Amino acid sequence: MKNIAVIGAGTMGNGIAHTFAQFDYKVQLIDIHQTSLDKGIATITKNLDRMVAKETISEEDKQRTLKNITTYTSLEEGVEYAGLVVEAATENVDLKLKIFRDLDKFCPEDTILASNTSSISITQIASVTSRPGMVIGMHFMNPVPIMKLVEIIKGYSTSEETFKTVEELSKKLNKVPVEVNDYPGFVANRILMPMINEAIETLYNGVAGVKEIDTVMKLGMAHPMGPLALADFIGLDVCLSILKVMYEGFKNPKYAPCPLLVNMVMAGKLGAKSGEGFYDYSQNRKAEDVSSQFSK
Ligand code: NAD
Repeated sequence: MKNIAVIGAGTMGNGIAHTFAQFDYKVQLIDIHQTSLDKGIATITKNLDRMVAKETISEEDKQRTLKNITTYTSLEEGVEYAGLVVEAATENVDLKLKIFRDLDKFCPEDTILASNTSSISITQIASVTSRPGMVIGMHFMNPVPIMKLVEIIKGYSTSEETFKTVEELSKKLNKVPVEVNDYPGFVANRILMPMINEAIETLYNGVAGVKEIDTVMKLGMAHPMGPLALADFIGLDVCLSILKVMYEGFKNPKYAPCPLLVNMVMAGKLGAKSGEGFYDYSQNRKAEDVSSQFSK
């Protein structure tokens, strides 16, 4: 398995492409927008520069990593030789079902199809393909080149062989794979998102301000980032989509998204990537700089 296709060059897609390329896989990075691909490559270059400056990698490693990545706007061309596809497109069920129908059509029949979805059912995604045994969740954490965890989600029909292959591959990327079953939010977001939602609710109720809430969780609970800064970093649209999937999946009001989160997403305040969320990223800090908090 030498060729890895990554669908989507956004926050997660560029990190996944970076990681595979750094470990010498040939990566085909695919996005519908050329601008997203350009931005994705610029982010990878910037993150590699940071690693060179810290002497984590050499200048040659950086050049080799960049050379391992080829960009495509056509799904059909990009996945032609893929041994594994990791889909990291926008968190939307209908979009993902369409992408997986297309992947099933265009990929070789032995290609494993993985989704980086935060919450959408792997079983449902697998059901639109002719190879449900070869569909799996590969949930990387943000920022991908730094975070060790990969949640590996077994759908109802995922074969043991597919699971073992993806588990081994994750270890080759120097990650720690954790096996998880396919229920809304899996493990990471089932626990994280109610906390983020409660932090937003606390702000919405006027209990404390943004900085105060984040400070309590950083200094009081030893969290590296406060929940509101983390929500900005993840993307408020992504947080909202995950909460909606859990709310609909469990029919439990405890997952109902806070009205303030809904309003902010409708207003286009998506967090670091849009320049404004709970914090302002337009003046002093660029969106990508938030990730440097993890590498200190
Ligand atoms: P993003 O909005 O930053 O990027 C999504 C990218 O997908 C965009 O560049 C968009 O142009 C592209 N895209 C949309 N439709 C496409 C298509 N049909 N074909 C190819 N590309 C397409 O989103 P993100 O935060 O990177 O999230 C991607 C996935 O990763 C989601 O499923 C999300 O739930 C999951 N995820 C996100 C985080 C996080 O912290 N943001 C963490 C773990 C998992």
